[in-house]
Amino acid sequence: MSRVYNFSAGPSVLPESVLQQAAAEMMDYQGSGQSVMEMSHRSKVYDAIIKSCEALLREVMGIPDNYKVLFLQGGASSQFAMVPLNLMNGSGSADYVITGQWASKAQKEAARYGDARIVASSKDKTFTYIPELDPSTFNPEADYFHICMNNTIYGTRYTALPETGKVPLVADVSSCILSEPIDVSRFGVLYAGAQKNMAPAGLTVVIIREDLIGHARDMTPTMFNYQTHADADSMFNTPPCWSIYICKLVLEWLKNDIGGLENMKKINEEKAALLYDFLDSSSLFKGTVVKKDRSLMNIPFVTGNEEMDARFVKEAAAAGFVNLKGHRTVGGMRASIYNAMPVEGVKKLVEFMREFEKNA
Ligand SMILES: *Cc1c(COP(=O)(O)O)cnc(C)c1O
Repeated sequence: MSRVYNFSAGPSVLPESVLQQAAAEMMDYQGSGQSVMEMSHRSKVYDAIIKSCEALLREVMGIPDNYKVLFLQGGASSQFAMVPLNLMNGSGSADYVITGQWASKAQKEAARYGDARIVASSKDKTFTYIPELDPSTFNPEADYFHICMNNTIYGTRYTALPETGKVPLVADVSSCILSEPIDVSRFGVLYAGAQKNMAPAGLTVVIIREDLIGHARDMTPTMFNYQTHADADSMFNTPPCWSIYICKLVLEWLKNDIGGLENMKKINEEKAALLYDFLDSSSLFKGTVVKKDRSLMNIPFVTGNEEMDARFVKEAAAAGFVNLKGHRTVGGMRASIYNAMPVEGVKKLVEFMREFEKNA
């Protein structure tokens, strides 16, 4: 068996032990005589899986009791609509910070339902930094304040949260959830497409403070109302059963093999430092992001020469380092080094880059 080092931004690498366990349980999940893909989501055996997934997520992230965990479908992209439909119910206005394409898509969607005010943006420099946020420019009457915590495409992240006072902070954490500890109590809503750092595609996780549930607009589709899923413990309709099962295995790996989010953070910092230190010392490659806002998960870099970039991506793939091509809107390269990317994978990538530079 030959496996590559996969630097895909999403769907992305999963821990090998998780894949092995899923393979071992494929034909007969714990004596049930079926795979998890085939069983009824209303069965006792599946009920234990989804309950255990939620309990593990609560434990690993330290989610307070006054928050609901929802296992949904539709991707983070559906949350761009679900958030305003459920939360834009007071002043009809919400504040958005534009730090990249995902934040911008979220703001555009919210603007269909009300006043989605842009508080700050880093578009002027192709989203290579996180803008300074001045709380005196925030709307104190806003129904919520929205940020994208880690910008998957441009490789920036917030290292401090905006002070929004009583206004609920809503964050898209698709590409950084579970990468380091997070104080859930600072947020009204956290949401994530699972395919970056949690599970295969198909699952969307929402963590929402209970008092924010139950105020959706009348026109809200039943499936887009948080209350529907909160009342039914994410079993209103068929949940993404297989993804939830893999998510449970990933959380077991995080808890038992890694030892929790503090340890995960240390490992992620070590991996990111390996690559950033090399980029800072290289005369061929360079990072594209302001140092203080650099992401731990997504690391874009360029040579400054498109032909050289293309050659690098091609030769890297041939050497077993795949999905290093940058996002179509940015060009260059991007290495996504999510939780499941081993330190070894980043070390070997840096060695390969060093060799490439010598021969360039
Ligand atoms: C990938 C991604 C999305 C889109 O997620 P889907 O699940 O494909 O809708 C949104 N926001 C961020 C930050 C992402 O990384």
